[in-house]
Amino acid sequence: MSFAFRVTHANGRARRGQLSTPHGDIETPAFMPVGTQGAVKGITHRDLEAVGAQVLLSNTYHLYLRPGDDLIARRGGLHRFIGWTKPILTDSGGYQVFSLAARRTIDEEGAHFRSHLDGSAHTLTPEKATDIQAQLGSDMAMVLDECLAHPAEPAAARASMARTLRWACRARDRFLALRDGLVPGVASTNPGQAQFGIVQGGVFPELREESARQTVDIGFEGYAIGGLSVGEPNEVMYDMVARTTPCLPEDRPRYLMGAGTPEDLVEAVARGVDMFDCVLPTRNARNGQLFTSEGRINIKNVRYAEDDRPLDPACQCYTCRTCSRAYLRHLFAVGEINASTLNTLHNLTFYLDTLRRIRDAIAFGRFESFRLAFRQSLSRQPLDS
Ligand SMILES: [Zn+2]
Repeated sequence: MSFAFRVTHANGRARRGQLSTPHGDIETPAFMPVGTQGAVKGITHRDLEAVGAQVLLSNTYHLYLRPGDDLIARRGGLHRFIGWTKPILTDSGGYQVFSLAARRTIDEEGAHFRSHLDGSAHTLTPEKATDIQAQLGSDMAMVLDECLAHPAEPAAARASMARTLRWACRARDRFLALRDGLVPGVASTNPGQAQFGIVQGGVFPELREESARQTVDIGFEGYAIGGLSVGEPNEVMYDMVARTTPCLPEDRPRYLMGAGTPEDLVEAVARGVDMFDCVLPTRNARNGQLFTSEGRINIKNVRYAEDDRPLDPACQCYTCRTCSRAYLRHLFAVGEINASTLNTLHNLTFYLDTLRRIRDAIAFGRFESFRLAFRQSLSRQPLDS
């Protein structure tokens, strides 16, 4: 089965659609849990399927360093290596190089860096990032882009955007050469892999529009909006998304990288975005920060020590069906590993349920009323500030 996308319902600028990949279909708008090392921290793939995850995101930088894409390719690719049969999206590794690696320098060739693990020297080029993802065999691969620091001056943002476009051309050429079997020494483990281009341009609308048009001219199976959710005000992020999506083709999926809060997801869907990933639900879960229909809960708070109610009375997840707030607080307070597991199950359920409600609302033509009600529920005083 090959890659395809079709919009099945439109409601204002919000779209509901179906994305087909070699490892199955994804109903959009979709949220992708982050499985950095080939697993979502604290839970098994069985749990992930039980909470309704349709697709997993995995990080190329980490898998390249350990256990290595050659080792994974020899196991038949990432799906077989980790035992996950549904779709996988991999990032390019660029973001982690920019945020984690030591002593990195960037030039036209690519990013030169030292591993944060053992100090070994590496170079990640647009071609190398494409090769690694071909060996991993993800269903959706990302081009290597330059991650601009925020805030940035317009001239720096323009130069970075232009380099990202040159890198995108190189990545596309490599992707097509790999598809044609013209790159010896690289074992492509998923012949149906799709490649996404990435729109950059900082917080400058003209640059965003130019980047989007030129990325579309190169031609990709899908398009991502990168470089947002990096510290700019929410309204600026929403505005950049709103300026970008009209420049992207209607018949290709749109992925807002790294965002965000539940309200970010709803607002981006309203501006025409189809796909999301974020570490927020899983990382916050491990820190005891829980999203509920009544506001955010910090489970370590002493006020929950003898609270026998479920975490979220409106939630049907395993955690909410079986555990009291008092028990969850106890597990967190003593550092029990179950705290991470139970909290992660709940937070992911909250995110995936939110996306399910969004999809239903779009299908029934009442996304605007859903958005309004969602905003009102958030504006109520949070349980823990
Ligand atoms: Zn729950």
